[in-house]
Amino acid sequence: MSSIRRQSTWASRTVIAAVLFGTMLQAPAPRAQAPKRLALVGGMLLTGYEIPPIHHAAILIEGTRIVAAGPASEIKIPPDTTVIDTSGRTMLPGLIETHAHLIVLGHGSYETWFPWIAAHGGAGMLTRVMEISARQLLMAGVTTAIDLGAPLAESLSIRDRINKGEVVGSRVFVSGPWISHLAGAAATGAMQVGFGGINISTPEEAARETERLANAGVDHIKAHAGLTFEDYKAIVGAAHKHGIKVYAHVYAEPDVKHALDAGVDVLQHVGSAGTAPPYSRELITEIVNAGRPVVVTAAHRSWVYPDTAAFPERLQDPGLKKAFGPDIYAEVQDSLKNWWTLSYFQRTDREMLYREAGVKQFIDSGAVMGMGTDSGTPMNFHSEALWREIKAHVDLGMTPTRAIGAATRVNAQIIGKGRDLGTIEPGKLGDVIVVDGNPLFDIVTLSRVVTVVKGGVVWKQDGVFVDAAKRRGSNHAF
Ligand SMILES: [Zn+2]
Ligand SMILES: [Zn+2]
Repeated sequence: MSSIRRQSTWASRTVIAAVLFGTMLQAPAPRAQAPKRLALVGGMLLTGYEIPPIHHAAILIEGTRIVAAGPASEIKIPPDTTVIDTSGRTMLPGLIETHAHLIVLGHGSYETWFPWIAAHGGAGMLTRVMEISARQLLMAGVTTAIDLGAPLAESLSIRDRINKGEVVGSRVFVSGPWISHLAGAAATGAMQVGFGGINISTPEEAARETERLANAGVDHIKAHAGLTFEDYKAIVGAAHKHGIKVYAHVYAEPDVKHALDAGVDVLQHVGSAGTAPPYSRELITEIVNAGRPVVVTAAHRSWVYPDTAAFPERLQDPGLKKAFGPDIYAEVQDSLKNWWTLSYFQRTDREMLYREAGVKQFIDSGAVMGMGTDSGTPMNFHSEALWREIKAHVDLGMTPTRAIGAATRVNAQIIGKGRDLGTIEPGKLGDVIVVDGNPLFDIVTLSRVVTVVKGGVVWKQDGVFVDAAKRRGSNHAF
C-alpha cells in the first residue's frame, strides 16, 4: 500500500461536501485533459487478500485504474472527482466467474432450448441470449467471466463488442467451441451441437483444432468430455505454444489424473455435483503439491436442486422476467414446469450424498481453489450462480474471507490476469462492487449488489442500471 496518498483536510471536506450536496455521479464542469476520477468513499473495504477488512475506507480510480485505496482518512480525493458514498456498505473487488455459459439462461433442457433458438431467429436469437447473460452477470457484480463453450463467431463477437462498449456486460474471455472425444449419440446430441462442440478422434486432430481456435483468437481452450491422456497432451501442447490456458471438464478420477498429468491448467468440476465419491488421498495430494487450481462448480446441481425444492418461487424471480423479455421468459418457465423430472437432475439424489465430502476434500487439503459455477445451466441463473457457489463453500467451512478471495484474487491468478484484476490496490483495473451489508457476517449479502464499477465506469448505482446517457454524462466515458 506504499502508493496510498496522504489525505489533506481540504480533501476530506471536499468528499463530505460532495456527499452532502448530492453530487454523486454528477459530472463536474468538463475540463480539457483532466484525468477522469472516481472515488468510492465511506464503507468497509475487502481488498481480496486474506487480511482483515479496512473500515471506513476509500478507493480512488483515475481513468480505468485504481490509484489509491485504504482508510478514507488517508486518501486524498482531488476536487474534481466523482464521489460515490458507500457508507454503511461493503466494497470489494469485482467478482470473477471462471465457468460461465453465455448461450444458456437456466432453461431446463438443451434438447428443447437449442431447437427453440433455431426456430426463433437462429444466430440473431443466440446473440440476444449471450447479451442477456453478459448483462445479468455484470449486474450481479461479476465484472469478469470465463465462457467455456459456445459457437466461435458469436463468442468472439460478444467479447469484442463488450470491450468496445457496444454491449453492456461482464468482461468476458472465451473458449469458443469445446473440444471433446465422444462416441455414439453423445457425439451428435443436442448438447454437443448446441454448444458448438468439436468432436475429435485422434490427438493429432485435437492439436489441429486447438491450433485453429488459437489462431482464430480465442482466449483459452475448453477440453470437454471423453478425451484420452494423449488428447489432453496434444491440446495442452498446442495451447501453450500460443500462450493460452486449457480448462478441462473432468469428474471421474482417471480423467482428473490424465488432465493433471498432461498439464491442463485448471481442473473444472472436480468432485462436484458429487458424481463420484471423494477422490483418493493420492490424487488430492498430487493436485495440492502441483499447485494446480481446481474449480469445483459445487452448487449447480447439488445445491440448486434442494434450494429450488425448498423455494420453487425462485424460478419466478421478477429480475429474470425483466432480463429475459416475455418470449424467452415464457420459454424458460415452460421448460421448468416439472423441473424435478428434468434429465439434468436425474442423478442429483445420489450426487447429494457426496456433495459435502466432494467439496471438503479440497477445502481441507489446501488446494488452490477458484470459484466457478457453470452458470446458465438448468435453474442456475447468471444473476445468482456465483453467490450461491460461494455460499456452498462457506456452508462447508471455507471462511468468508477465503471464499471471497477465491472468487476475486485467486480467480484472477487462475485465469492469468492477476496483474490487472482480483484485488483492490493501486495499479489494478477499477473493478469494484458495493454490497448492502457485511458479507463476512452473512455471505448472502453478496446477492445484494448495489454498485458495479468495471474498468472505472459505473454500470450500476443504488441497485439501478446506469444507462449510456448517464455514463456519458458522468466523469467516465468508455
Ligand atoms: Zn464442463
Ligand atoms: Zn460447463
